[in-house]
Amino acid sequence: MEPTVVTARALLCAPDRWLAGGGLVLEDGWVRAVLESPRAVAAAGVRACDLGDVLLTPGLVNAHAHLELGSLAGEVSPAEGFVSWVEGLIEAKAGAGVRAFERAATEGAAHLMAGGTTCVGDVDSTGASRSALGAGGPRARIYREVLDAGDERRTPVALERLRGMPGEDDALRSWGLAPHAPYTVSPALFAACGELGRQRGLATTIHWAETVEEGDWLERGEGDFGRLLRHSPGVSGLDAIEAAGLLGPATSLVHANHARPSERERIARAGAVVVHCPGTHAFFERAPFGFAAWREAGVELALGTDSLASNDVLDLGAEMARARTTGNLDPEVVWTMATLGGARAVGLAGAVGTLAEGARADLVAWPWCGDGAREALDALTSHALCPRAVWVGGRAVQTPS
Ligand SMILES: [Zn+2]
Repeated sequence: MEPTVVTARALLCAPDRWLAGGGLVLEDGWVRAVLESPRAVAAAGVRACDLGDVLLTPGLVNAHAHLELGSLAGEVSPAEGFVSWVEGLIEAKAGAGVRAFERAATEGAAHLMAGGTTCVGDVDSTGASRSALGAGGPRARIYREVLDAGDERRTPVALERLRGMPGEDDALRSWGLAPHAPYTVSPALFAACGELGRQRGLATTIHWAETVEEGDWLERGEGDFGRLLRHSPGVSGLDAIEAAGLLGPATSLVHANHARPSERERIARAGAVVVHCPGTHAFFERAPFGFAAWREAGVELALGTDSLASNDVLDLGAEMARARTTGNLDPEVVWTMATLGGARAVGLAGAVGTLAEGARADLVAWPWCGDGAREALDALTSHALCPRAVWVGGRAVQTPS
């Protein structure tokens, strides 16, 4: 395909890069060049397509979802506590068919794109996302989820699932690993994940330190998790992750609500990303998330929607607004989490979450929302805008209405 130049009233290429009247050279789904001014656009000598009175930004990156679980929306109440919620979810999931999971993944992906998300880190426990995502969907890091509840009789089946990991990435789908959580993954299964992750250089995501209960179980074999799990390992979750060789820059740790200060420092040194899910946080009525402590420790943060089993909507715009309010954060900080932070979390830094040479042409055109980055970021992170149009790999997925 011939290169084309796309122009708009302004481009917000990165939180600190605002270009008035610039453009992008797009070719074969990639950004080949960023043109900084109308003069540079004219000099490019390439056919230009002007989008008009809009702000063009990179698509948002949702760093944590379980799209398949949209089929269980509203099924389980959090009222009886987290362990009971998990039990309820396991029961509801057992009663649902694979078609329902696939339908939920397709619909969830469409909702995300309508809100400006062009890349999702999705945890796939049933194979539904692998079937449902691809052409016509968002770009996806599909993490294959494995767990054995610490029960060695279940480990062989989980290892078999690891051996069945898809091979090469394709145009829209990259593969990854999701050892579910330190309390549901035995040391043997964790070690196998670490080994496979190293061999193939796979991005990995792990639920970590979501609740106090999991720490009680992991370190002392105490509490309600004893109803569901066998063999407390007698170590902290972070130690279990590190022992498997999985504490590093290719790993995102999801939730991270109950970290010790020394653990924040370890995570910062390792270069792992922490993913916060504001909707789930609200669903379980959790104490405020420690944005300040994580940022002070120098840990990169990202945002996720999690699933409709613990959230009311799949819309990263809603999550940005929640994070901004609950964390009392600057718009620029929140936008960074939803773009550059998400890109790092899903192992696609440089390719998504930014408008730069060599990035994917994953774009959103927003209604004009202010002269300058400050005003625009305020509107973008307030959940006040609906995308006019969205492109994944240069292909329009939603036309202006
Ligand atoms: Zn999750």
